[in-house]
Amino acid sequence: MTRKLAAGNWKMNGTSADLAEVETLLQNLGGVQTDVLICPPATLLHRMSEMASDSILATGGQTCDAKLSGAHTGDLSAEMLKDAGATYVILGHSERRDDHGETSEDIREKARAALASDLTAVVCLGESEAQRDAENTLDIIGGQLAGSIPDDVTADRLVVAYEPIWAIGTGRVPTLEQISEVHDFIRARLIRRFGETTGAQISILYGGSVKPTNASDIFAVPNVDGALVGGASLKAADFIQIINALDAA
Ligand code: PEP
Repeated sequence: MTRKLAAGNWKMNGTSADLAEVETLLQNLGGVQTDVLICPPATLLHRMSEMASDSILATGGQTCDAKLSGAHTGDLSAEMLKDAGATYVILGHSERRDDHGETSEDIREKARAALASDLTAVVCLGESEAQRDAENTLDIIGGQLAGSIPDDVTADRLVVAYEPIWAIGTGRVPTLEQISEVHDFIRARLIRRFGETTGAQISILYGGSVKPTNASDIFAVPNVDGALVGGASLKAADFIQIINALDAA
């Protein structure tokens, strides 16, 4: 059995005033069975973690450095995220791969650091529009998966997120068949690499323009175990609808 996870990625959005959204979300999580996560900007991580400490809401970082500590101005280690209350960290988001030149090898090193600090790594994979048009999607996803995930993962410390780059923040969503094809492929690769038990237990999220209006359809696709949600996680009223849709799936 995989665990269901509704994960919000706030990216570079949110100041203290936006913690009111978390308050509203917390008031609406009663009875929710699915795992719920928000990865706020690092400036809000500690406060959000404290607010969520008696709830099912987990918090996480949006990246971490592969190193433990040292002369790396502006960077944060996995241990620092953990110390601020995080239990997850998003790694290899396409915006990090593009804006910061992160390679799959870099992401694997960061994932190792995350695991060593007892964080669950949410490792993102996704093809560009040009790669999809050239029918290279599965090759790209297979390569990113092989390169970005360390060998010694356990199912409770790894989540994979399939996020087609062309669907992030655009309002464009792949067809359910396209989502299904990639998620089945990821599941098969995880089983091939980590074995029947571990490979079948790793949660695979879909991300890219998930909204209250399309969430139920996406969650009905086999091997979709939840969502990584950007824009729609910023407002509690939207995110709670997505969480409830996952709970009902
Ligand atoms: C994301 O940032 O990971 C994402 C999926 O964004 P959005 O939901 O806004 O497309």
